[in-house]
Amino acid sequence: LLALLLRRVRPGAGPLAVADQAIAALDAALAIGQGRQGGCLVLQFDTLQAVCDRLGRARQSEILAASVTRIRGALRPGDLLFALEDGCLVVALAPTERLDLESLVRIAGRLHLVAQQPMQLGADMVQLTCCIGFCHARQLANVSGQAMLHAAQVATDEAMQHAPGAIRAYTADLAQARADRDSLRGSFAAAAAAGQVRAHFQPQVSTDSGAVSGIEALARWHHPERGLLMPGAFLPAIEGTELMAVLGETMLIQALDALQEWDQAGFRVPSVSVNFSQHELADPELPERLKWHLDCHGLAPGRLTLEVLESVVAKHCDDIIVRNIRRIAEMGCGVDMDDFGTGNASITSIRRFALRRLKIDRSFVRGVDGNRDQQQLVTAILSLAERLGLETLAEGVETKGEHAMLAQLGCGHVQGFVVARPMPVEEVGSWLADHRGRLAEALRIDVRSS
Ligand code: C2E
Ligand code: CA
Ligand code: CA
Repeated sequence: LLALLLRRVRPGAGPLAVADQAIAALDAALAIGQGRQGGCLVLQFDTLQAVCDRLGRARQSEILAASVTRIRGALRPGDLLFALEDGCLVVALAPTERLDLESLVRIAGRLHLVAQQPMQLGADMVQLTCCIGFCHARQLANVSGQAMLHAAQVATDEAMQHAPGAIRAYTADLAQARADRDSLRGSFAAAAAAGQVRAHFQPQVSTDSGAVSGIEALARWHHPERGLLMPGAFLPAIEGTELMAVLGETMLIQALDALQEWDQAGFRVPSVSVNFSQHELADPELPERLKWHLDCHGLAPGRLTLEVLESVVAKHCDDIIVRNIRRIAEMGCGVDMDDFGTGNASITSIRRFALRRLKIDRSFVRGVDGNRDQQQLVTAILSLAERLGLETLAEGVETKGEHAMLAQLGCGHVQGFVVARPMPVEEVGSWLADHRGRLAEALRIDVRSS
């Protein structure tokens, strides 16, 4: 059936051709339903890529063809199914009097169930999960086949943000959020080039001595119209795209520039930490690029720490990411596992990645001074780290009580609002000077009282 559907594409026509047919079918359904009864669903297999990575790319069309046959079987006569070239399936529902939003929800649920049934392909058993977005004609101010398909795709994109296996209905808010994301994505590269994307810095201190043990660079977008944007506001717009490399390069250069400045001003900052996304870590040229930037700044590799999310470590066991991180660790850079405790990394993968430090996620730190369960969890993480020969840093430490308890439990370093909030580079020098003053004063008091 897939072959049949694709054969309907005009020879030499681009990928839009099948989408054009879906739009035409939706337009026809709207005409019959007098613009009020049409419905459109878009299905996207969120685990298709992983399954094809395992079984081989050549199996993709076989898997899709089998899925098309199944889904076709779950539709009514008159409903139409189209396979887009990006692997998404579009369903244009035949208009009926009773087709309302509730029935669309039921149809989406039924297709979801069918699409996710395990399938036997030769010797292989395949289990896909699938996201679905849908839209009813009545939800749109200006109804057309094109608008319906777009709206269903917007809903599918939203479902994909909650993959695996999510279903979402179109709403006007979703469309606005998507337009915002598109606009941020469209202007990010120019913003970075114009210096609007800047590193803010948050210190990390030793629980033993209080001395600064590192400083983490955190991205901020100084947006000319929207003010200061936090990563939560713009990372989702660029995640998984080439723009992550633009962000990474921007942050790395600013972090190394700042470290050089602090050195020249006589501050002792052992290392600057930069967050690296999965996308950047998969770049085969990353180790060489890091080495080049470090050389340009005249900094030893040990002055740079990479923060890698535990979820990334957990997902990769023997690929370019593992090789890159190993190579970078061998060069002498530090590698910290970020958000530790949230990403299901195995002990084997922790060993494989040659880590230096575990960053204990804020969810374990919150209220640790007054909560025995939290204390037990942190103690368990600390003893695991000790056995594996890793240092520890607790992040998101907000209160003096949390700080004191973490020190007492044996956590090596802390980072959080109780030490300092992330600050622009211009403020770091005076914070470092004040901190040095505070430490010297504490030492004088200590000497006097002993
Ligand atoms: P993260 O790496 O876990 O960074 C810690 C986050 O916790 C930061 O949020 C920081 O501002 C916040 N934080 C620090 N101390 C405290 C505290 O005491 N209490 C609370 N409640 N929060 C605290 P931020 O700056 O919004 O960054 C969010 C996430 O965005 C980061 O989480 C990181 O995963 C990502 N991110 C930030 N900058 C970059 C970057 O340059 N590249 C990449 N790939 N990701 C980045
Ligand atoms: Ca981090
Ligand atoms: Ca973190």
